[in-house]
Amino acid sequence: MVFIERMDTMKLYNTLTRTLEEFKPITEGKVGMYCCGPTVYSYAHIGNLRTYLNEDFLHRTLVRAGYEVHHVMNITDVGHLTSDEDTGEDKMLKAAEQEKMDVLALARKYEDFFFDEEKDLNIIRPEKVCRATEHVQDMIEFVKKLEEKGLAYVSGGNVYFDTVKFGHYGELSHKDIAGLQHGARVEEDTNKRNPTDFVLWFTSSKFENQVLQWDSPWGRGYPGWHIECSVMSSKYLGEYIDIHCGGIEHIPVHHENEKAQSEGCFGHKWVNYWIHNEWLQLKGIKMSKSLGNILTVPAIKEKGYNPLAYRYLALTAHYRSALQFTWEALDAAQAAYNNLKARVIEMKKDLSGPVDEAKKVELLGKFDEAIFNDVAVPQALAVMWETVKDSSINNATKWAILSEMDTVLGLKMDEMKEEAYVPDAEVQALLDARKVARAAKDWAKSDEIRDALKAKGLTVKDLPDGSVEIKQI
Ligand code: AMP
Ligand code: ZN
Repeated sequence: MVFIERMDTMKLYNTLTRTLEEFKPITEGKVGMYCCGPTVYSYAHIGNLRTYLNEDFLHRTLVRAGYEVHHVMNITDVGHLTSDEDTGEDKMLKAAEQEKMDVLALARKYEDFFFDEEKDLNIIRPEKVCRATEHVQDMIEFVKKLEEKGLAYVSGGNVYFDTVKFGHYGELSHKDIAGLQHGARVEEDTNKRNPTDFVLWFTSSKFENQVLQWDSPWGRGYPGWHIECSVMSSKYLGEYIDIHCGGIEHIPVHHENEKAQSEGCFGHKWVNYWIHNEWLQLKGIKMSKSLGNILTVPAIKEKGYNPLAYRYLALTAHYRSALQFTWEALDAAQAAYNNLKARVIEMKKDLSGPVDEAKKVELLGKFDEAIFNDVAVPQALAVMWETVKDSSINNATKWAILSEMDTVLGLKMDEMKEEAYVPDAEVQALLDARKVARAAKDWAKSDEIRDALKAKGLTVKDLPDGSVEIKQI
């Protein structure tokens, strides 16, 4: 295939080096990709889903480049506080109290909701989805190793990671650790040796009523949030990972901490490419549960939008740029999606004739050039439209190209077909009246009704079996 030889020319922007780098996998032909998953205490919103859509574009791009992709994602069902640092309340516990639900039942409810939304958006489910609560023993083993290496200490009943002993904390966010040590930041947790240290295991905490607790060498308690990602990613992908993704807010705390724990435990570099997604914003502000300015996939469906219109909207912005959500933008995406659908349906009606192979190579080459350049999906979308509108090629060629492009765009072009028209009450009344008129051989009345339907943009055709086919003009 054309794209296999392009494997080495793929470029990705690495947060670690702040440069666009040529992607080189650890194992030839394979990619290990870890993406931080949702904290399942509430509905995932279309902001969260923008990050998962971008990760899906990357996943599909890697597959198109010929790689075997091993994609792992965690489900945070314990331990994430309302702050990314070790302060605030337990998100799960707080929500369970509000909803008067068992914590695990609450977690499963929102996990199911999340995957329903992902399905609606045609996001490929990661090969391995792992829940934090099912890996607590692995976390305990990991913390024990850190303790053996002198990188963890017990203070005030909790176990902490010693960021200063680790030696190169702050590399990912380019944090000035020396500056932070003497900085003016008010430190709430007096148990910490250094302001940047973080909790690996809580035993003594402010949450005495914490429902989910496990026995550990340090006492009964529960894990800190960051440890789950280091543990589950290495369990399923090994100690060396090609790509690690997440939203940009994870750079300074969550990912910095994951990196420190993992490299401290393994004694070597852990992740080669760190990929971070910019936010979906509403009026210039991040869409977020805590700010309450959220929208979900069911909410946009209820307003009559196809969820794939939101996928289309996500394709119009590069993952490293903020995307402003407005209803006008979603309307435009829905209109573009409908236009594409109408053209694809028309195209598929006649796929006869030879495929112009030279043109196929040319247009797919342009498409690949865009996606292999740091997953530039807006440019790839432009090449898709160039193909749709190219009057020099036949439908067979167009469809051969589009169906390959859609393996990355994921707009479900293969499923695009004319949908059965469902009449509303008014139209149904006209159809019923027409049926009565025809049975009475009142052709004038039947024609009058036909004209009334035409005025509504509908055509009717009587089929041999006595039924009526209705089409929108
Ligand atoms: P959470 O469930 O809060 O842990 O978030 C899940 C993922 O969604 C993380 O990778 C976040 O970085 C990402 N995320 C949260 N809010 C937004 C947003 N407004 N736009 C894009 N990604 C977001
Ligand atoms: Zn994570």
